Amino acid sequence: MDLVIRNARVIGNLGAPCDIGISGGRIAAIAPRIDADAAAIDVAGRLVSAGFVETHIHLDKSCILDRCASGRGDIEEAIGEAAKAKAAFTPEDVHARATRTLEKAILHGTTHMRTHLEVDPGVGLRGLEGVLPLVGQYRWAIDLQICVFPQEGLTNNPGTEELMVEALRRGCRAVGAAPYTDSDPHRQIDRVFEMAREFDVDIDMHLDFGPTAAGMDVEHVCRRTDEHRYGGRVAIGHVTRATSLPVAEFERMGKRLADAGVALTVLPATDLYLMGRHHTADHNQTRGVVPAHKLLRYGVNCSLSTNNVLNPFTPFGDCSLIRMANLYANICQVGSRADMRECFDMVTRRPAQMLRLPDYGAAVGKSADLVVLDAVEPEMAVAEVVPVLYAIKRGRVTVSREPAKLHRPQ
Ligand SMILES: [Zn+2]
Repeated sequence: MDLVIRNARVIGNLGAPCDIGISGGRIAAIAPRIDADAAAIDVAGRLVSAGFVETHIHLDKSCILDRCASGRGDIEEAIGEAAKAKAAFTPEDVHARATRTLEKAILHGTTHMRTHLEVDPGVGLRGLEGVLPLVGQYRWAIDLQICVFPQEGLTNNPGTEELMVEALRRGCRAVGAAPYTDSDPHRQIDRVFEMAREFDVDIDMHLDFGPTAAGMDVEHVCRRTDEHRYGGRVAIGHVTRATSLPVAEFERMGKRLADAGVALTVLPATDLYLMGRHHTADHNQTRGVVPAHKLLRYGVNCSLSTNNVLNPFTPFGDCSLIRMANLYANICQVGSRADMRECFDMVTRRPAQMLRLPDYGAAVGKSADLVVLDAVEPEMAVAEVVPVLYAIKRGRVTVSREPAKLHRPQ
């Protein structure tokens, strides 16, 4: 053994604490007592889980608050302000900001990440050139994959398609979409499916990001998923329009997504910040966060993710997924233990399934990508937003944090 984690409550088997033996970067044994002459960490009965999995974050446009105006705080303003800032992006500038955000995620126990990255004639490939080196530079701490997408439209924005194809050639592992900024949303979706087929990559689309249920594209995406036999390889994010659906139609959507094998990602921080702006005058403000835990009941796979950090889309964020799970639980009025557990699973096991990570899990034989949390069970980890005390990537400790101490008067 190279490392033994002693007295761990391992997710999936939360009974008596046991030892986790790690060898060659993998979990070699989980047993009540492992006798080994190896480095050891005693975690005193705390919860050990496979690391957090971020499926949806924008490293390239993070940390640009100081360059953007924020007046109305709606999505049109956010896209416009980000587009202006993007014109001045250089690969070095993107690399510096993305590094800052990536390191925050690592410090909060994220061991796997899909970052969305935009290309268009305005920014060219400068965002990609800033983010792509991070894949190798931070492999010691995180598996990072890039999903290229056209934030400012595809069919209405000549030159964008060629840039997306070039980004896929350079190693982007997924292709995304933003049909709501396109003059022909369905044509954009169709073209993205064709690109995914050409490069054999997964699909992860921004979809139905708006304030009402009118004109939703979910059915179109499900139909194309069926036609291309892409079930299990397609995810959609936001889908805030679904929060305005009557219950019966929401249920129908859930079943349709499950049948097609389309997964859904909720971005609570952004959705809360941008949605409901049109109702300020009458106080009837939609919160705009899809109740994903209810979709799980129909068999849809869902994840909770960060999306934007310190930019006009979301002017806050610390990249903590356990905090995002807590935020979601609070907004969506999650109270039962079973649903609270699902909130934990939606930042760990479920996004790992969405990203199709076969090596993921706190089990013998899996890659030793683990977090130690200052809790004894996942429900309370979410309820209390507990800190990550250790993160481990391929068997090596990458983060450690001392629990806070009270200094009582003598
Ligand atoms: Zn996004």
